[in-house]
Amino acid sequence: MCRVMEEKDLGFMKIGIDLDGTAWEHRNFFRELIMSFQSRGHEIYILTAHVGLDKNDIQLWSRRGFPNPDGYISKIRGQEEIPSRDWKLDTAKKYGLDYIFDDFDTGEVRLVRINE
Ligand SMILES: [Mg+2]
Repeated sequence: MCRVMEEKDLGFMKIGIDLDGTAWEHRNFFRELIMSFQSRGHEIYILTAHVGLDKNDIQLWSRRGFPNPDGYISKIRGQEEIPSRDWKLDTAKKYGLDYIFDDFDTGEVRLVRINE
């Protein structure tokens, strides 16, 4: 299915949000951010180094009141050994994300620009 682009889509963004230390740590902030971005047509993706589709993540996500994400991106089997930061930056690029929010296991959330 092809998305019909309109003039208002010129600033369209795909944004990845990490779970541990990021969405889970700043729930109210990210809930509000996701709602406003989605209501403006932007797409929000969970980007986690967890392996496979973790049903607990999805359940927690909705139980904690986050709006449905536009996608869930996680490591697949065989990628466990790749350092999280490298995997995330590489994967975000592959999926065409424009920005990601991630704490990269430091406890301090950063906004990283991926695609100019
Ligand atoms: Mg994290």
